[in-house]
Amino acid sequence: MLTVDHLSVSYGQHRALDDVSVKIAKGEVAVILGANGAGKSSLLRAIAGLSEGHAEGDISFNGVSLIGLSPDDIVTAGIALVPEGRAIFGDLNVEENLRLGAYSERARANEAANLDRVLTLFPKLRERRKQITRTMSGGEQQMLTIARTLMGNPSVLLLDEPSEGLAPVIVERIGELILQLRDLGATVLLAEQNMHFCLGIASHATVIDKGEIVYADTIEALRANEAVTQKYLAI
Ligand code: ATP
Repeated sequence: MLTVDHLSVSYGQHRALDDVSVKIAKGEVAVILGANGAGKSSLLRAIAGLSEGHAEGDISFNGVSLIGLSPDDIVTAGIALVPEGRAIFGDLNVEENLRLGAYSERARANEAANLDRVLTLFPKLRERRKQITRTMSGGEQQMLTIARTLMGNPSVLLLDEPSEGLAPVIVERIGELILQLRDLGATVLLAEQNMHFCLGIASHATVIDKGEIVYADTIEALRANEAVTQKYLAI
C-alpha cells in the first residue's frame, strides 16, 4: 500500500499541492487527473523523493515513511518514476539505455534476467536493440523510457503523462502495457490530463485542481459525473 497523507508542496510562496491524501492498494492502477499546472507532477515527484519544493505531510510505502529518504533509496524500496517527456540518452543504443536503467542495487543483481523480461514486454525494442535512440520515433522513445524504468524491477510504477503527444495507436499500446504490468503484480499510479486514456485501465481516479483534491471515486463514477468532468477536465 502506498499512502500519501496530508501532503502539501510549496515552491516559495506558491502552494502547488494543498493537503492531498491518496491511498493506492497493491496491484491497483490509480490515476491522478487534472489540467495543466494542477499539481500532478509535483505529487509524483514528491513520492519519488525528487520534489524541488518544500513538502509537508507524510508519504509511506507498506507502512514505512519515505520522507527523508534519497531518490535512490526510494528506487531501492521499489518505487520508480517514469518522468514526463522522453528521458533517454539519444546517442546510445536501445540496449545501452536499458542497461543504464539497472543502476540500483535491486536491479544490478538481476540485470541479465531483467533485460530479458523487459525485452519480452517490448518485442519492438528487442528487434531494435542496436538502434541509436535519437533516430527512433516519439512513441518508440516513450516505450524505451518506460522500459528503462522497468529495468529497476519496481513494484510501484509512477507514470507522468505517458499518453502526452503520442499517436492514438501508441497510446493504446501503452494502455495495454499498463494492464500487462498490473497482471504481473505491479502497482501503478498514473498522472494524466486524458481521462479517456484511463478508462478501462485505472480503477480509481482522483481529480486535482490548483493543488487540491476536488473529486475522488471510481473512474466509471467520474466518467458519469459531467459536472466534474466538464469543470475540471478539458474533454
Ligand atoms: P502539467 O500537466 O502541465 O505537467 P502538473 O499538473 O504536472 O502540470 P506541476 O508541474 O506539478 O503541475 O505544477 C504545479 C504548479 O507548480 C504549477 O503552477 C507550476 O508552475 C509550479 N511548479 C512546478 N514545479 C516548480 C518548480 N520547480 N519551481 C517553481 N514552481 C513550480
